[in-house]
Amino acid sequence: MGRIILLAMEEILGRNGINAVLNHTELRHWINNYPPNNLDLSFPFEELSRIQVGLEEIYGPRGGQGLALRIGQACFKYGLREFGPMLGITDMAFRLLPLTTKLSKGAKIFADTFNKFTDQRVRVEDTEDKIFWHIERCPVCWQRNTTRPCCNLAVGILQEALYWISGGKFFNVEEISCIAQGDPSCTIVIDKPPNSNE
Ligand SMILES: [Zn+2]
Repeated sequence: MGRIILLAMEEILGRNGINAVLNHTELRHWINNYPPNNLDLSFPFEELSRIQVGLEEIYGPRGGQGLALRIGQACFKYGLREFGPMLGITDMAFRLLPLTTKLSKGAKIFADTFNKFTDQRVRVEDTEDKIFWHIERCPVCWQRNTTRPCCNLAVGILQEALYWISGGKFFNVEEISCIAQGDPSCTIVIDKPPNSNE
């Protein structure tokens, strides 16, 4: 997963941009030396969270969060390549399910994937018109202290996942609580009916 995040950062920031961030955050050991393509837990939460801080320090709070959102979107693409076939979500049988079923099943499969392959803890609450994605142990804002939700990287991943699952529809996705601002979980709410005006 750490490798996926660094590949996504390189795509969005360019080689110079990612090197600047890794320099600034004193994570030089990852420069031109991304974690190998395996499932080892080689990328600590603390480093991921430090990268978020670095993005905001270099590009400004708004700029940094905007980039984090785009990096999250790119993460999904790389993640799908690595994990998609194993999870069954790229199978034709899954793709032919009705949208609401795909959203519910997809959310569950994604949560299981994070819970199984990372130390992140996600709980899905599925209601009639919303999905609440509760991150109860969140690497993105790990040990941060903020005055507003700051896990746009996670929001970006979900946005892109929804776009892909629905075959190109846009959904309202918003982080409504964040551990970094003292809440018990980082909760991202997804409106189930896609945005009709986009
Ligand atoms: Zn968080």
